Formats: sequence, C-alpha cells, structure tokens
Amino acid sequence: RYSTAAALEEPIKPPVNVEYTKLLINGQFVDAASGKTFPTLDPRTGEVIAHVAEGDAEDVNRAVAAARKAFDEGPWPKLTAYDRQRILLRFADLVEKHNDEIAALETWDNGKPYEQAAKIEVPMFVRLMRYYAGWADKIHGMTVPADGPYHVQTLHEPIGVAGQIIPWNFPLLMYAWKVGPALACGNTVVLKTAEQTPLSALYVTKLLHEAGLPSGVLNVVSGFGPTAGAALCSHMDVDKLAFTGSTETGKIILELSARSNLKPVTLELGGKSPFIVCEDADVDNAVELAHFALFFNQGQCCCAGSRTYVHERVYDEFVEKATARALKRSVGDPFRQEIEQGPQVDSEQFEKILRYIRAGVDSGATLETGGDRLGEKGYYIKPTVFSNVQDDMPIAKEEIFGPVQTILKYKDLDEVIRRANSTRYGLAAGVFTQNLDTANTLMRALRAGTVWINCFDTFDAAIPFGGYKMSGQGREKGEYSLKNYLQVKAVVTPLKNPAW
Ligand code: NAD
Repeated sequence: RYSTAAALEEPIKPPVNVEYTKLLINGQFVDAASGKTFPTLDPRTGEVIAHVAEGDAEDVNRAVAAARKAFDEGPWPKLTAYDRQRILLRFADLVEKHNDEIAALETWDNGKPYEQAAKIEVPMFVRLMRYYAGWADKIHGMTVPADGPYHVQTLHEPIGVAGQIIPWNFPLLMYAWKVGPALACGNTVVLKTAEQTPLSALYVTKLLHEAGLPSGVLNVVSGFGPTAGAALCSHMDVDKLAFTGSTETGKIILELSARSNLKPVTLELGGKSPFIVCEDADVDNAVELAHFALFFNQGQCCCAGSRTYVHERVYDEFVEKATARALKRSVGDPFRQEIEQGPQVDSEQFEKILRYIRAGVDSGATLETGGDRLGEKGYYIKPTVFSNVQDDMPIAKEEIFGPVQTILKYKDLDEVIRRANSTRYGLAAGVFTQNLDTANTLMRALRAGTVWINCFDTFDAAIPFGGYKMSGQGREKGEYSLKNYLQVKAVVTPLKNPAW
C-alpha cells in the first residue's frame, strides 16, 4: 500500500488556521524579549507553517516572575479546590468543543494521522483534564498516631512554581500529563514546549484562560532546549521540574537542578521495551499487536515495543507475517483518512532513523522490508522490518524512535527474561501469551514500569506510567502523579489534656 507514494501527492490543506504564535506570559500573548522567532515546519514537506516567538532566558524570567506572583499572592493556590476543579472542567469542555481544530494543528505540526489526533489524542486530553479536575477537591492530609501527648496532622500543599518541559511526539498528551496534576494540586506553571511542535499548546492554553484561569498561573514559552529549557531548569525561583524526552537530556536536567536550587525532578525518558511473543501465541494476533506496539505514532513512542522477542517455535511464521503486515501499512499524508502512518517529525529524526537502518544492515541483521525513505519530499519512511537481530547490535540496544521493527529469536523463558532485562532502560514491556503461568512469571520478572499482557499502549488516565532504571524517575498519571506536585507538611500540636 505505501508504494502508492502518497508522499508524492500534493499535501492536503489543513482544516485550521494558525492563530497563536506568541509566548503566553501572565495571561497575555507577547513577543519574545529579543524579538526573535523560529519557524515551525510541516513534516509532510519541510515547509514553514508559521514563525513562532522564540523564548529565551529573559522570557523565562518573565514567565517565572508571573508564575511566582500568581503562586505567592494568589489567587490560584488560595482558591477553593472546588473553584479550581470547575475551571479545569470548563477547560475540558472547551477543548472538546474545539476537538477538530486542535487535532488539525497537532497533525500539521507533528505529522501524526489526523484520525489518531481527532479520535484518540484530543479526547484523551479531555479525559485527563476531567480526571485531574476530579482530584482537585480530593487531596487530603492525614492524622498521625504519634507517641506522646501530641495531635499530629499532615497538610498536603502545592510545591510552588513548576517548570515543565515536554517533547514533540505527543505534544497535547504530554501537556495534559504535566499541567493537569500541577494545576489540580494548586501549583503555578511555566511550560516549555518542544521546538518542533509549539502550536497546539498555545491554542489550548488560550482556551484555559477562557475557562477562567487567572493570569500567570500557566505560562507557555516556546523555544529551544539549551536556551529556554536550560534557563527554566537553572532558575532559582522554580520549585519543581518535570521533563519528558531523551535520557541524555534528562541527565542535563538533573544536573541543572543540582547546580541551582536542588528542585525535585520528575523524569520520563527513553526506552527499548521488549515485546515477548510466547510459544503458545496465536501468531496472527501476535503479529498485529507487535506491529501496533512498534509502529504506532510513526514509531515515535518512548514505550514502543522496539525489541520483538519471538519464540523459536513460531519465529519463521512470525517474521513472514510481520513483514507482510508492514508492507500493508498505509503511509502518506496524515490528513488522509485511511492513513496509518504519516511523516517523522523533522529532518533530524528522519536522518537518525535512516542512519540506524544502515547500521542494522551493516551489522548483519536481515532487512525484510522497507529500509528507505518514501517519496522525495517530507520525512516519510517505509515501514521497516529486521529479522535475525542480535542483542548487541545498535538497532537492538538504542532507541531508534522510528518505524523500524527488530525481531529477535529466543528458546526459553529464563533466557528471554535475562535478555529482555539486559538494558539500561526499563519503561515498558509487552507479553503475548495465553498461558496464565507464563504471564504471571513474566509480569513479575520484567524490570519495567508498565507490563502490558495481551495488549499494548493502554493509557488510561488512572494508570500510572514511568520508568525503571534510566527510563526515568517518578510516575505520571493516576493518583501517583499527585505526589510530584505536593509538599507534605507535618503539623504537631501538644495536647493539653492527653486523656482526651
Ligand atoms: P530532547 O530530550 O532533546 O527534547 C525534549 C525536550 O527537552 C524539548 O522540549 C527540548 O527543547 C528540551 N531540551 C533539550 N535540551 C535541553 C536542555 N539542555 N535543557 C533543557 N531542556 C532541553 O529530545 P529530542 O532531541 O527532541 O529527541 C532526541 C531523542 O530523544 C529521540 O530520538 C528519542 O529517542 C528521544 N525522545 C524521547 C521522548 C520520550 O517520550 N521519552 C520524546 C522525544 C524524544
């Protein structure tokens, strides 16, 4: 199907106009202090969609000052929890109302299929906001049974100004995962969006203000990592950092925090997640799920099932069918309805993936299909499958972040557990089996923050997500995420009459 080379066709005109391109500081759209802008590009063509204000240290200072004032002087943390909840609920309603425009911006800026943005991601954004709105008035402290004549209680208080840095692969969902809990808990925020995808955050933050968010509570700074991002991480008036992106940048973020004011850091980093197909697997279903686990979102998922381990008994059949499935994948203009795969986000990612494909061939893996760009224009890559992959090849060890499936053969359970865990990452794992004992063994043995059994990429708002090892620190989503944005204050009062 991809040989229709939809990438060669004239790109479809996106059904949305770009309205907001400035920084959003203290409730106002403003130019960058330097007056500079940067182009955000259409991954279908590499052409400019819009020029966006380029925030830098000075803009971060302004944004942090606004967030600081909104935190210290209120009204946000001083509003009743119910008032905060109602603003977040109104926000969710407004996003729902503008579902299609927001999805179109996301597709235009990122390249992901419009159907996916409109039917999965924007609705999930709405669901996440309602979920966090629900938490706003359910954050309780405890009473503590201390020894001695004391009444002891804990207050769960917002931390203060949260600096949040998000990537380009799921711009809206990463916004929801971070902004949702921060605001529900009463914090104020400075959000640095990814330079590849600044548009959707500006649009929805405008709606958040329409929903009643006071000025300064959420400030959005578009710009680059080493400038705006680093300034945010080093800022002495930022009380907490949350980051999603590469492990390499995660290390820099921790270092910047340590060198400034030791603000606590939540990290959501890379992965090389195993997807284990057991010997009892129904091969057709296993192929379909493993395909989805890797190719979803053009392979640009931190938790992608990017090491497909297949039991030797079903290996040959699996490789043949996985190759046929990849060949059938429809690739082309993401605004087309039937398209499963759009272009990669930018030329840097595109070139990196092609380099990994060459490394796969050079290291002796068998290229079953794909292996090259699709069309002449934009950043489309043919769905690629490698078989005969060995654990020590770069394509089996490093995060490719693209539509490249690597299939590895194994003999028994102990061996696959050892090999699956033999990585610096530990974000997720997939297991495909009908045997309960096998599922139970793997679920406990795999060192990963999420284990999906006979499913993959199930992302409910209530399910915590995060990494073991170098895949990150802390958990997002679910009740666990609230911890990232709360301080615990112990309050101790002597009891005058301990008998009571
Ligand atoms: P990145 O980690 O460099 O960028 C993510 C975010 O961090 C962006 O907003 C960026 O501006 C910011 N950033 C970059 N350098 C910074 C710095 N010094 N200080 C503060 N902020 C900084 O990722 P990338 O360069 O866009 O992609 C590189 C690789 O990272 C990808 O190929 C992929 O392997 C991985 N990645 C992972 C995720 C994920 O969800 N875990 C998301 C995007 C990319």
